[in-house]
Amino acid sequence: MNYDELAEVLFPEITTSREDIENMFPDRNLPEGAKVTRIGPSPTGFVHLGNLYNAIIGERLAHQSNGVFYLRIEDTDNKREVEGAVDTVINAMKYFNVEFDEGAVSDGDNGNYGPYRQRQRKNIYQTFAKWLTTQGKTYPCFLTEEELTAIREKQIADKLDIGIYGEFAEKNRNLTIDEIKAKIAAGEPWVLRYKGIKTDEYISVDDAIRGKLEMPRNFLDFVMLKSDGIPTYHFAHVVDDHLMKSTHVIRGEEWISSLPIHVELFNALGWKLPIYCHTATLMKIDGNSKRKLSKRKDPELALAYYQEEGISQDAVWEFLLTVLNSNYEEWRIENPTKDYLEFEYSLDKMSNSGCLVDLDKLHDVSKNVIARMDADTVYEKWHEWCVEYNKSFAELIEKYKDRTLGALRIGRGGEKPRRDLVNWKQACEFMKFYYDELFVVEDDMNEQSDPETIKAFFNKYMEMYDHSFDQSEWFGMVKQITEELGFAVRPKDFKKNPDMYKGSIVQTTNMLRIALTGRSNAPDVWEVSQVLGEDIVRERISKWC
Ligand code: GLU
Repeated sequence: MNYDELAEVLFPEITTSREDIENMFPDRNLPEGAKVTRIGPSPTGFVHLGNLYNAIIGERLAHQSNGVFYLRIEDTDNKREVEGAVDTVINAMKYFNVEFDEGAVSDGDNGNYGPYRQRQRKNIYQTFAKWLTTQGKTYPCFLTEEELTAIREKQIADKLDIGIYGEFAEKNRNLTIDEIKAKIAAGEPWVLRYKGIKTDEYISVDDAIRGKLEMPRNFLDFVMLKSDGIPTYHFAHVVDDHLMKSTHVIRGEEWISSLPIHVELFNALGWKLPIYCHTATLMKIDGNSKRKLSKRKDPELALAYYQEEGISQDAVWEFLLTVLNSNYEEWRIENPTKDYLEFEYSLDKMSNSGCLVDLDKLHDVSKNVIARMDADTVYEKWHEWCVEYNKSFAELIEKYKDRTLGALRIGRGGEKPRRDLVNWKQACEFMKFYYDELFVVEDDMNEQSDPETIKAFFNKYMEMYDHSFDQSEWFGMVKQITEELGFAVRPKDFKKNPDMYKGSIVQTTNMLRIALTGRSNAPDVWEVSQVLGEDIVRERISKWC
């Protein structure tokens, strides 16, 4: 077979050479040690937590080393493509403060290594496919769907390796140039296959997360170009990561099994392998066992979930950093006021035994993140979320901005800030008592005492209440009423002699909390009262008199 002739028959329109293409993608002029990373999401319309997880690793590695982080849209599978999906990816990443230096943008490209949408790179792939064809490394394969299915069924029945190789490849590998020409002239669809080699050799790759990966060398005649001339993931990955100069390929562990194909292609093209970083699959605890997060069962797999729940971007980042690097939590405790981007992320501290997405843990991280923010920042971020997801609440906190800020200042800023806000959605629920429009009494007052005592307590409170009392004067008054009504001022006195008291100060302060906030679990009563203002306090208390 004359392979140059075959290459012309298969790719008559390709006039560029390998060199032409290589010249279009010169080396990046970066400082020593700078890393070039990317994410390569497929535009399926579904952006998942794994995309962000890999993005954070790539972003950190690139930006910690003064390198480049870029976005490549892997749209080779047009069956899975959904309209508007590229914008969905771009917007989701933007929302989570993932900054790209270059790559696909909404209306085109930003950067010199594009196009950054794979379907627009058809000529580039085909140039290299054509060259590999001249080297005798590929052949057109005309197997039909039916033939492929029959081969697969036979392989399953005979317990053979699945795929095209050996006897299954023979017919198409051995076509003459005239037969190939005739089939193409007759309009028969073909794919371009790489000629796998049957050997006992192993490949060995040093994965930066997993260490040495040793696997049998590829023997399959895998598909490089599909019948529409668009590459498969394998071929596109190799060509793009070479030309775009990725130093590190961060991707999910589901790609490990195709590593032999990628190594084969890099070698055939005479290119250096990037450093592979295969990340662990996202898992969750379900009952007594761990399982993969599922799109169908677990809403938390979708990145949109975190947006909709109002889990702040910082909280999601910090949660993922906690999962990604075993020393992150310790660092955070030692550096409570630093920006998380100051943490030195490292591949060495990654676990490869499955990444656990534990929502309780996320909420815990999130509480800390919000507790560390000052009141103005909380207001701003919360308001931004409300504008998108809870318009009427946004209007409310605009209308009562001072009151809201006052409320947000309670318990903030000290050594041990209050941790009662979990996310923006919950904040709307938790804070609603500050607004008459939403205030409702949720807890049962009668659990604190009998109706008569309750009434007597509030009457006395109304009588003695002076809004200008400072916190200790106010507390002195509460203790006095508590005592006068037969409650113990010290809870332990009540515990010791329960028969002597109606209860303790726990009950009387709970009554105040329920009257003022609707719940017994609420921030400090005096501070809440100061924020609500005298009129509202009197109005809410008088309902119980
Ligand atoms: N398009 C691939 C995916 O969505 C990306 C894998 C890679 O980053 O190489 O899984």
